Amino acid sequence: MGVPFMSSLPRTLGELRSSIFSEERLRTRHVKDELRDNLTARLRSDGDAPVFPGIVGYDDTVVPQIINAILSRHNFILLGLRGQAKSRILRALTTLLDPHMPYLAGCEVHDNPYAPICRRCREEVARLGDESPIAYLAPDDRYVEKLATPDVTIADLIGDIDPIKAARGGHGLLPRANRGIFAINELPDLAGKIQVGLFNIMQEGDVQIKGYPIRLPLDVALVFSANPEDYTARGKIITPLKDRIGSEIRTHYPATVEEGIAITAQEAWTRRNGHPLHLPNYVQEVIERVAFAAREDKKIDKRSGVSQRLPISAMENVVSNAERRAIRNDEKVVVPRISDVYAALPAITGKLELEYEGEMKGADHVGRELIRAAIAKTYDEYYTGANVQQIVQWFDLGGEIQLSDSVPAVEALENLKEIQGLTDKLGPLSVSQKDSPEQQVSAAEFILEGLHAHKRIGRSEERVFKAGEKKPEPVREKSVEPDERPYRQRRQFN
Ligand SMILES: [Zn+2]
Repeated sequence: MGVPFMSSLPRTLGELRSSIFSEERLRTRHVKDELRDNLTARLRSDGDAPVFPGIVGYDDTVVPQIINAILSRHNFILLGLRGQAKSRILRALTTLLDPHMPYLAGCEVHDNPYAPICRRCREEVARLGDESPIAYLAPDDRYVEKLATPDVTIADLIGDIDPIKAARGGHGLLPRANRGIFAINELPDLAGKIQVGLFNIMQEGDVQIKGYPIRLPLDVALVFSANPEDYTARGKIITPLKDRIGSEIRTHYPATVEEGIAITAQEAWTRRNGHPLHLPNYVQEVIERVAFAAREDKKIDKRSGVSQRLPISAMENVVSNAERRAIRNDEKVVVPRISDVYAALPAITGKLELEYEGEMKGADHVGRELIRAAIAKTYDEYYTGANVQQIVQWFDLGGEIQLSDSVPAVEALENLKEIQGLTDKLGPLSVSQKDSPEQQVSAAEFILEGLHAHKRIGRSEERVFKAGEKKPEPVREKSVEPDERPYRQRRQFN
């Protein structure tokens, strides 16, 4: 059970004894018991409420396994590629800590007032007795996080302890995490002998420093994260440490485009001061599908993955490019277009770890291919089976239109209306001729970009849409099936 809010918390050891923070309660309440108790209370009070608010897409996979690990009082590790919310989940564990945890004021290791482990506190309690001052930690103060690197030392972890003068809390990370949560990210990057030290503390509460055993009976919930391949690679993690990690839990990327969109919508900074934003669904889908396409692409390194931060940063740049256009043209509403997704390449390329073939082509080229593939797929969601022959014909007959990402909507719309049949086709996107010019232009441009992604029409570097190059074997195409079928067969993304 959590501790209810108290306007006046006990300030001395004497007051503490007769409060709800009794000696008996604190003696049996180790961190893992506390996590377990508060989790149990949360599950009991509302079985349907999310245990970790803001973590999307893990309800049926990762979250139940974490709940089990906490109920089992395990140290556990999250295995997953980057950008799978691993650090975020670990940080969210603090929501399962008590709102106030009493400790001996001034103690670096946040000693239990009834059973201090450091010399300073033992001496103080002996001198002051029930007058010993008490302070409190909030949940966030009880979370210590470290990114493992090969140069992390025992001193970083434990602190500078002089073995001759014997144990003295020190300033190391682990003692500072005493009675809290200690998270180590990228555990396999920790040197072998540091892993041994960590194991000894988990196992026995002691550690060897310069050959001397130091007693360090810490109360810490240890949690880790790692890339799965690093973790399972032979020799990366010492076996006894692996043995002491109670649960291995695999994280994953969003399973569906819808989940990806939900995460990106939650994380991306799009609600800004200034012009109101109208963000079309098809733009959200294209951005998300860029990440999905990248995760499948042979030219991109599978081992490091494609972070969810890619669509999040891309979304922010897409909105910015649209915002820039709206400000310059004095438009009332910000409506992103597909050309804004291309303008967001700087937020995409840096997040792709390229394989050799990708490097040969260049990050920019690979990024553009991914966007194009994402557009083609999104276009199919809305326009499979639609008759767009009239639009294609307009270009085949020599029509051309330039549509730069900076052109004002009113002006662009006037030009787009010259393409017969185009503005009649916005229905599947839930846009009509009654909507704002900004919305109509964005929707019409999506159709043109979709046709271009399927190579039915062409487009130059200067964003001039024109007839496609093609013209091969028109006879055979017609004999297959009328109308829409041929272009789908001809679809190629590369
Ligand atoms: Zn102390």
